[in-house]
Amino acid sequence: MKRVHNFSAGPSMLPLAVLEKAQAELPDYQGSGMSVMELSHRSGLFTDIITNAEKLLRELMNIPDNYKVLFVQGGASQQFAAVPLNLMKNGKADFVNTGSWSKKAIKEAKKYLDVNVIASSEDDNFTYIPAIHKDMIDPEADYVHITTNNTIEGTAFHEIPDTGNVPLVADMSSNILSEEIDVSKFGLIYAGAQKNIGPAGLTVVIVRDDLIGNAAPQCPTMLDYQTHSDSDSLYNTPPTYGIYIAKLVFEWLKDLGGLQAMQARNEKKAAMLYDYIAASDFYSSPVKEESRSIMNIPFIIPGRDLDGEFVKAAQQEGLETLKGHRSVGGMRASIYNAMPVEGVEDLIAFMKKFAADHQ
Ligand code: PLP
Repeated sequence: MKRVHNFSAGPSMLPLAVLEKAQAELPDYQGSGMSVMELSHRSGLFTDIITNAEKLLRELMNIPDNYKVLFVQGGASQQFAAVPLNLMKNGKADFVNTGSWSKKAIKEAKKYLDVNVIASSEDDNFTYIPAIHKDMIDPEADYVHITTNNTIEGTAFHEIPDTGNVPLVADMSSNILSEEIDVSKFGLIYAGAQKNIGPAGLTVVIVRDDLIGNAAPQCPTMLDYQTHSDSDSLYNTPPTYGIYIAKLVFEWLKDLGGLQAMQARNEKKAAMLYDYIAASDFYSSPVKEESRSIMNIPFIIPGRDLDGEFVKAAQQEGLETLKGHRSVGGMRASIYNAMPVEGVEDLIAFMKKFAADHQ
């Protein structure tokens, strides 16, 4: 069997232990004679899966009781519309523009309400996270939206802004479960599953009770949080296999010591790579130090046209998908939860060799 170190920004690596467990259970899930894919979403076996998935996620993220966990479809991109459709009361919202995904969220929200961009790092190619103060926020805004980790640009909020009584909404697609966070600071968190949760097709929404039940009349039934809250995410057929894999990932994470242990491991991996880049005179990081993501690490080879050669040679060594996003160029190593420390060690060893061969 061949396994590579996959540095893709998403869909990304899953833990091998999770894949092996899924493989072993595939044709006959717990003596049912069916795979999870073939089980009714209303069966007892699937009810156990979805109930446990939610229980484990609550435990891992320490989600307070006054928050609902919803398993939905449509990706984080669908939430760009669902959030305004559910939260619009005064018809205006404040957004922080920290990159490509923020821009998409802003564009979609503008269809439904007045968007005020209260801070942006576009002036410097999104290489930093702008400071947010309470007095920048419109107290009448329906919510404040941030992208906690900017997958393409490689930046992340290291301090969660205090938005007072205005609910804070976060697109946490690329850093959910990577570190400990205080859920009570947010009104709503959403994330596409395909980085730290499981397969693409599942989207997780964590929403405070009081933000449910206020959807605009034109909000489609399937986008109304009330629909999924009232039915425990079983209004229609949910992405059953994705929820099953997510449950296995949550078990894996819990066995590893939960988010505290995962955060320590992620910080170690990121520090190894940033420290090597800083020490090297061949590579450099385009991102301001205080705003750097521990999940997505872009790097460049300044003054040389070697990106294509680097990516190709890395792939031949089992280091997959290191090409930077087409909008920023260079390279990007996405080192989500499932990337082992050895993957980063192997990448650094390759970078050293490549640099030596091209000095
Ligand atoms: N937001 C962020 C921060 C992302 O990284 C992505 C996908 O990579 C998205 C939103 C879009 O997610 P989806 O493809 O699930 O719609």
